[in-house]
Amino acid sequence: MMTQDWHTRLSHAGRAGTHAHGFVNPPVHRGSTVLNPDIATRMDAGGRRFDQALVYGTLGTPTHWPLEDVVAEIEGGTRCQIVSTGVAAFTVPLLAYLSAGDHVLMPDSVYGPARQFADQFLSRMNIATTYFDPLIAPAALADLFRAETRVLYLESPGSHTFEVQDVPGLAAVAHARGAVVMIDNTWGIHYFQPFRHGCDVSIQALTKYLAGHSDMVLGGIIVNDDEVWQRVRATTLLLGQHAAPDDVWLALRGARTLAVRLDRQMQSGLTVARWLAGRPEVARLLHPAFPSCPGHEYWKRDFSGASSLFGIVLRPEHSRAAVHAMVESLSLFGIGASWGGYESLALPTQGTITRTVGTGDFGGETVRIHIGLEEPADLIADLERGLSVLRGFAG
Ligand SMILES: *Cc1c(COP(=O)(O)O)cnc(C)c1O
Repeated sequence: MMTQDWHTRLSHAGRAGTHAHGFVNPPVHRGSTVLNPDIATRMDAGGRRFDQALVYGTLGTPTHWPLEDVVAEIEGGTRCQIVSTGVAAFTVPLLAYLSAGDHVLMPDSVYGPARQFADQFLSRMNIATTYFDPLIAPAALADLFRAETRVLYLESPGSHTFEVQDVPGLAAVAHARGAVVMIDNTWGIHYFQPFRHGCDVSIQALTKYLAGHSDMVLGGIIVNDDEVWQRVRATTLLLGQHAAPDDVWLALRGARTLAVRLDRQMQSGLTVARWLAGRPEVARLLHPAFPSCPGHEYWKRDFSGASSLFGIVLRPEHSRAAVHAMVESLSLFGIGASWGGYESLALPTQGTITRTVGTGDFGGETVRIHIGLEEPADLIADLERGLSVLRGFAG
């Protein structure tokens, strides 16, 4: 299986097998109670495969298992735990590993809600967080480790500012000090293989590219080690985490077209980004596949592709009001959070991001752009009109 192209593997992983009476897809199993044939079977249950007994709906169903297999396959891990949201996909592993008195390291460019979880929740458990420059060299990161540092949490590229991190270098420092390495790999989905680069836990907001249709929220925690699995699985159950079977089924449907969508969105993203980089209104492109992006050299070394979310920095003469007018004038780009769906989005980000080590300021207003499945020429025409609104803005 390992030698086949991932388009092939995505088509064949997580099939229903014999339990769906020959239908290609697994059915939606909605359920709480599972009736067991006898007490012995029940006592012995907890198994998670089609041929094993089940005891209760919260433990997962034959609708969840195929999606878990597919997501593990995409991320190059051995197992995946499906949870309710992308946020739960990081709170669960953090709580699985952190105890009172522990210390965690996070990049300054970490996804906002992850920072809030550290600052507003972990802090109440007497768990301290130190933020570091996402472009930090491994030797400098080593200086931030304490005796009680238990987790190195990464996200590459960074949220909104797209700094690509030296994941293998930073992970090696953490492992030498006995810490666990977690990475939010939502952007790099499949194009970055976390376990080949020294990570122990991979986090996916399946809400984004995997689901792909902006119609649900879901998270995945992926591991490649049985000990890590036991901890993540136990904590998932202790916290009462569950995902609705209907959403899981929809996500599995989305997964079947993930490879073609990602290929197309990568190409369209590169086309639009290249066009934007050549525009006089744009001061800088923050797209990991371009040399103008901080940490581009790590993208080149470690990634096999790029997803279609990136940023632009506008020239300093363009005011925030002008940028807002530009974004509002676009007809094909929606103004909205999230990304990874089939539709393009544009979101002004300056003033909405928190940084405590750096400033997150690139010397101009920033806009985060998500490229969907539209024809790039149409998107470029829309942006061209938007940039004329930007140039003509008065007031
Ligand atoms: C959206 C997102 C999440 C959270 O996913 P939800 O399903 O919205 O909770 C986590 N990490 C990153 C990088 C995201 O973009």
